[in-house]
Amino acid sequence: MSLHIMYNHQCSKCEAFYIPYEKDIVCPNCGLNEEEPYDIVPDLAHSAKYQMDTMGFYTPVAWWTGSFGDYVALIIFQILDAYSDQEEKEFQEIAFEYCNNRTWGNQLYMKDHLRDLSYSVFLALNEKQNIDMEQAECL
Ligand SMILES: [Zn+2]
Repeated sequence: MSLHIMYNHQCSKCEAFYIPYEKDIVCPNCGLNEEEPYDIVPDLAHSAKYQMDTMGFYTPVAWWTGSFGDYVALIIFQILDAYSDQEEKEFQEIAFEYCNNRTWGNQLYMKDHLRDLSYSVFLALNEKQNIDMEQAECL
């Protein structure tokens, strides 16, 4: 089993799918800024950590994409795995390469959006791990 992200969001002007995960994130397709932010980062970090804890890697073997959030989650899991499979490069470099090499079709506007979002998830994951370690030390 895996933890799914039931979140869908489309720009009200151009209908592009994206995630306004912080207040100042505008639509990456048309630049519109009118939506209430939805902080999806903790959800994604939680789901990623669950995958790692149960499977030992991030990308689920089978992943049913039930929402836009799930689609985004899968891409971020793949970037996280690409990062943990090597030691030389910084996370941002890996995310940059992954997003540049991926075929986005008519969703090219997602490239930088997802690269930035993946980095926020990466930071949240590290924070989560540090908290867990502190808690373990207290026991
Ligand atoms: Zn838009």
